[in-house]
This record gives sequence, structure tokens and C-alpha cells, in this order.
Amino acid sequence: MRTITGKCHCGNIAFELQWPDAGAEIAVRACNCEFCTKHGGVYTSHPGGALNAFITERSAINRYRFGTSTAEFYVCTRCGAVPFVTSAIGHNLYAVVNVNTFEHVPREQLKESVSDFSEETTESRLARRQRNWIPRVSIEYENADTE
Ligand SMILES: [Zn+2]
Repeated sequence: MRTITGKCHCGNIAFELQWPDAGAEIAVRACNCEFCTKHGGVYTSHPGGALNAFITERSAINRYRFGTSTAEFYVCTRCGAVPFVTSAIGHNLYAVVNVNTFEHVPREQLKESVSDFSEETTESRLARRQRNWIPRVSIEYENADTE
């Protein structure tokens, strides 16, 4: 088990990612949707992983949705970074993490491929997320009463 830490540029959104693979390489995918292209979103996930996110200022978070509205992009409105994306499926919350917000992970460990999900039906999209996305997600807010 490896622990990967990361945060947005200003630190408002920080996270710890429990990564079960001991191997040095991490498979990542550059989503080619317009939002991810424009934001530099390059994501990874592991069905055996766990994501613990810590948000300092709830009012500086924009949970952006578009298209099918089945995913929420956590955008830090202070610095504009998008550290992770969540999708609520059934009673569970799934996530993928933007490797561009990782810290202390050498670039050469990231093996990138480009994914095109534009032809997927919503049903197959949700099934794919349940198979591949991080199934254990916790998001804690430091200032829960600032909303
Ligand atoms: Zn930020």
C-alpha cells in the first residue's frame, strides 16, 4: 500500500490517496472531453483504493456538473485547480483523482493514455465507474459552518 498526497495550488483542497499497488507505474488517462482538455484533467483511479479529502474553505469550492450531470468536478475557486471528480452511484460515492495535483510523484511513473468516453451511454458510463473508480471516498470540511 502506498499513500499519495496531493492538493490544489492554494491548498484549500488536500487529499490522501491510498494506492494498493506496489508497482512503480501508475496508469493514468487524459479524458478528451472539453472540460478536462481545458483544465488539464488527467485522472487515475483504482478499484482497491481509498480517497480521503480535506477541504478548508467550503465556500471556495465549486462542485461543477455538465453534460449528463452524473459527475461532480471539485473546483477550487481560489486557484482554479480540479483535484478530483466524484460520482454518486447507488448509495456509494466514487472518485477519480487528477494526477496533476499529486505531490512527490515523479512524472515518469505516470503512464498516460487518452480516453474517449463520448460515445458511452449513461448506463455503461456508470457501470464503468463502479468497476474502475475509487470506491471508498471521504470528504471532510474543516469549516463546516461557513456555507
Ligand atoms: Zn486551491
